[in-house]
Amino acid sequence: MLFIFGLSTKLKALPSRAATCRYCRAFVQHYLEERAARITLFFIPVFTTSRSYRITCSNCGQHSSISKREANALSR
Ligand SMILES: [Zn+2]
Repeated sequence: MLFIFGLSTKLKALPSRAATCRYCRAFVQHYLEERAARITLFFIPVFTTSRSYRITCSNCGQHSSISKREANALSR
């Protein structure tokens, strides 16, 4: 019997928000992004193994990883 396992990463854009950048110190729009690593079986996602959040500054383009709690606070 043959099983085809795999690992895929899904990116999801969350609502963006204006905040002060920690790199350029400008109060500009930031883009929130959720990355979810998923185990696939026959190319169908079965379950999520890890989930991370990233924020990107629209002024300087620097990005940093944030916790789920910070992402929830920023997406409100
Ligand atoms: Zn910046």
